[in-house]
Formats: sequence, C-alpha cells, structure tokens
Amino acid sequence: MITRSPIPLQRRAAEPSPGAWQRQLAAAFRDPRELCRRLELEPRWWPGAETGHALFEVRVPEAYLARIRPGDPQDPLLRQVLPLGEEAEAAPGYVADPLAEADHTPRRGLIHKYAGRVLLIASPACAVNCRYCFRRHFPYEENAPSRAQWEETLAYLRDDPSIVEAILSGGDPLAASDRQLAWLVERLDAIPHLKRLRIHTRLPVVIPDRIDDALLAWLGGTRLHKVMVLHVNHANEIDQAVVDACRRLQAAGVTLLNQSVLLRGVNDDADTLAALSERLFEAGVLPYYLHVLDPVAGAAHFAVPDDTARALVAELRPRLPGFLMPTLVREVPGEASKTPL
Ligand code: SF4
Repeated sequence: MITRSPIPLQRRAAEPSPGAWQRQLAAAFRDPRELCRRLELEPRWWPGAETGHALFEVRVPEAYLARIRPGDPQDPLLRQVLPLGEEAEAAPGYVADPLAEADHTPRRGLIHKYAGRVLLIASPACAVNCRYCFRRHFPYEENAPSRAQWEETLAYLRDDPSIVEAILSGGDPLAASDRQLAWLVERLDAIPHLKRLRIHTRLPVVIPDRIDDALLAWLGGTRLHKVMVLHVNHANEIDQAVVDACRRLQAAGVTLLNQSVLLRGVNDDADTLAALSERLFEAGVLPYYLHVLDPVAGAAHFAVPDDTARALVAELRPRLPGFLMPTLVREVPGEASKTPL
C-alpha cells in the first residue's frame, strides 16, 4: 500500500511549479536544423544531423541545451545529442539489439535477465535522445502494455518470490505521468516479497524540474527501499538545478547512484572522469558503473577500445577515493551479471 507521504509537500521557493516539466518536454527541440541553429553550428553540420535524425529522431529540451557552449561542435554535451552522418555507417558487430533483450521478455513490458530482479519498461519515451543509446532500435510499440497487460506483467512478479527488486526503465520511466507511476508503484508496493524499487532515469539531469511535488508524493510514500540510478557522462551536465533536484530526492529517502557510458570525444580522459566523480559527489550521488559502449548500430563512432578503457581506469584509480571509483563493466548477453573489464 502507498502510505501518506512523509515528505513535507508545501512549496519552497526553489521548487518547480506543477507541470513545468511537461511543458519543457513538449517544447524540446525535435528538428535537427533548429537544433543546429539554436547552438550556432555552421551549416556544414546540417546534412549529417538530418541523416542521423532520420535513423533516430533528435530530441533535446532547452534545460539541457542551456549547458552547451554555442558554436562549439566538440562540446561534450552536444556530442551526446547531435545526430551525425556517421550513424548511417555500418560497423562489424554493431547490431540493433546488442544485449539480446528480445530473448528475455516473458511478458509485455518486462525484461528478466538477472536473478532476483526484473526490469519494467514504464515508458517508451525519453526526455532526450542520446545518440549512443543501446535501445535506439528497441521495439517500444511491442512493449507498451495496456492496464490489463500490466496486470499480467505484475502477476509474473507476484508469482515469483525470488524477485525482490523491480527496476523501472524505458525509455525513461520518469517520462510517464505521475498518475501512471503512482498506479504502478502502488501495485509493486503490495507485492510482499518485493524489497526494492530501482529507477533508471536521466530526467533529473535533463529536466531537473521533473523532481516536483507530484513525483515526490508517490516516491516518498512507498515502503520499498528506493534507489535511483542517474545517467551522467560529464561534469558539465550537473548544474545547480540538478544538484537541487538530487537534494529533493535524497530528502525523500532515495539512494542516488550514477552510471556513465565511456564515450569517445565526451569523457574518454582521466581528468574528465575524475571531475565527473567529484561533481557527482557534490550532488550527493555515488558513481556506480562506467559502461563500455554497447555495440548498437549507429553508435560505433563513440567506441573506446578496451585497452584504452582499462588504461584510463588505471590512471583514475590513484586520483580518487575508492567510493568515487566507478566499476568499469561490459554487459554481455547471456551472462548472469555485468562483466568487469
Ligand atoms: S535517456 Fe537513456 S534510454 Fe533514453 S535515449 Fe538516453 S540513454 Fe537511451
């Protein structure tokens, strides 16, 4: 049962107004040329942006764009969101479903790969379309359950007492409405053997106003232990609004972790990774995983060779306390857990 939220819900000056995040999401840039113009990129970037957009549509909200240096095509945040012509180039081993998730979908909207935990596709949409996303080709339309189908999916969890953790994923689960999420979490809450609710999301980073009173009401009300795994790849992504959003989550009893993807031209040097860990900690977030790129078709230009990744981590280790060192991992289809490199 969802209980009354222990979080004080009266408005504070720094809190977002109700619905602000939906308006920002609706106004996100979805036209590659408009994106290039907004960021003052030369016209030579336009054709590639249109080619990439045709393969995986562009989507970037203003709150994220505001952290990008105009006129700098090498900006590490821009590189994560700007479509490029390289996305159309085939690369050996880069495929549509690099993690073979289709083999682990026993119910609509549910992926069961690892013991004790299941992943629920709570939303097919994201606030930002990251060009390296391993789910850029995911068949969301085949995994968008109706309420009745959600009941079947939830029955799968109820019938398996070994499942102790539900992971909300997507897309970005926080792109779903608070009404939908409150409905889902109330049902998860009522499954006695479930202990943890984990949420994998980039929305607190991309649109920090997403962490509003309506979200904190259902999140703060569940008896489940709450873990939120953010996705930040570069320290520049964490501005004061993100720090404030993280503080609101912590006040609601949420443990905050981060996973990053090692991306060429974004964060593939030790200084950048050290700065990211330090900045995450300032926001109350612990680094968790540093993933090597999943070989998804269209993203090969982001790949960092394994030897380089290992050398980077070796350079990073003496510079950081252990609790700020993310674990370098790869996800290998069929393995029982993430594989450390
Ligand atoms: S927010 Fe996450 S799921 Fe969405 S496009 Fe980015 S990496 Fe993929």
